[in-house]
Amino acid sequence: MWSFENDPEFQPELDWIDTFVRERVQPLDYLLGSQWNIHDPEFIRLVRPLQAEVKERGLWACHLGPELGGKGYGQLKLALMNEKFGMSRFGPIVFGCQAPDSGNAEILAHYGTDEQKETFLHPLLANEIVSCFSMTEPQGGADPLIFTAHAEPDGDEWVINGEKWFASEADHAAFFILMVVTDPDAENPYRRMSMFIVPRDLPGIENIKNYGVYGEPDESHAHLRFNNVRVPAENMLGGPGDAFVVAQVRLGGGRMHHAMRTLAQATRAFEMICERVVSRETKGEQLSQKQLVQEKIADSWVELRQFRLLILETAWLADQGNDWKAIRKNVSAVKATMPKLLHDISSRALHLHGSLGLTHEMPFAEWVIHSFHVGLADGPTEVHKVVVAKEVLRDIKPAEGMFPSYHKVEMTRRAHELYDAS
Ligand SMILES: Cc1cc2nc3c(=O)[nH]c(=O)nc-3n(C[C@H](O)[C@H](O)[C@H](O)COP(=O)(O)OP(=O)(O)OC[C@H]3O[C@@H](n4cnc5c(N)ncnc54)[C@H](O)[C@@H]3O)c2cc1C
Repeated sequence: MWSFENDPEFQPELDWIDTFVRERVQPLDYLLGSQWNIHDPEFIRLVRPLQAEVKERGLWACHLGPELGGKGYGQLKLALMNEKFGMSRFGPIVFGCQAPDSGNAEILAHYGTDEQKETFLHPLLANEIVSCFSMTEPQGGADPLIFTAHAEPDGDEWVINGEKWFASEADHAAFFILMVVTDPDAENPYRRMSMFIVPRDLPGIENIKNYGVYGEPDESHAHLRFNNVRVPAENMLGGPGDAFVVAQVRLGGGRMHHAMRTLAQATRAFEMICERVVSRETKGEQLSQKQLVQEKIADSWVELRQFRLLILETAWLADQGNDWKAIRKNVSAVKATMPKLLHDISSRALHLHGSLGLTHEMPFAEWVIHSFHVGLADGPTEVHKVVVAKEVLRDIKPAEGMFPSYHKVEMTRRAHELYDAS
């Protein structure tokens, strides 16, 4: 049955989330620093009670299966919920589904031993600790095949050496999920790396420098060096050479939720545009009455609806088969569209607010920069567009002759062949 309506029993939950995020969570964006600084006394004072309310309502960590305390909601419902969470920087952490912890939890749930689940997964799910996913290296992130940080076996331990780059929230994290080379000579290059749980306090982990990104409250993206860091053999997640397979566990749903949160940010920019253009006058009329302004409103509204439908269709497809590989064209299309949408609508918002739009009092410059962030993290836009194109062209057959199969002469000949005798 084709329908754009929500389940009647789910809609009240969405409405509750919407009001709760707008009225109670959004104000935190103006009061607190990093969302991952969970030991900050102000975080404890302001965020913990909100998290308790979410738990009470039964909406905590809904991306998880029921066996881990989640609702086992499908991707469509999760997408709709993330559209609400994304209205505030603190939305995801108040609802127990912030990156990279949500994805890291999925990996641990999938590959961790019972003991690792006890030590790392359960406190992570309770937001008693936070974590870091560390894959990128200084010489390049878009091509994991040039990574060199490595681990070598030594008795019942692995010894890790090398550098990692842009490890977000490394300083707040209790542990890293770290991707390193374990078999540099493996014939299949995608079998050269393995994934490890690395507790943050192990000797030999050096933070060379934290890098800041415009608009973020802290410098939180670490350039790390691992100097003979020893981890027990059981800290390997999956088997040797499984790093790419393990990494995939976190990416499908994660990209979709991120897209809905980005849509929410672009929607906020749009709402701000709308308020501004009906509030400001120039040359004797409201900005909203200028046709060139109206074009920006119309374009933005259409782009938001188009993107939302693309995400929801992809979420729906995931719910039908739950096979991320089969729908990777759709997921990559979502990932590749997300930065442009946020960039274009935030830029229009900045522009339409005039000089005020450029100031630190408005969020637009930060959101424009954020559009570049979402175009880089989890793979640059170009790489995702290549996936879309390859998948689209995968089963297309070349024309048999000199001219296209749809050449008018040939189409007419075939039409005659079909109907002349009848
Ligand atoms: C805010 C932020 C947070 C991040 N957090 C983390 C984290 O927690 N953990 C982690 O491991 N990494 C993290 N990253 C790193 C992110 O995954 C990398 O930035 C990304 O993979 C690109 O790698 P790079 O920055 O080295 O760029 P490069 O690989 O040098 O690419 C630079 C540019 O080259 C172009 N390009 C690259 N490849 C292709 C291609 N195949 N075809 C055409 N053009 C191409 C693109 O324009 C690309 O933007 C984060 C990045 C940002 C911006």
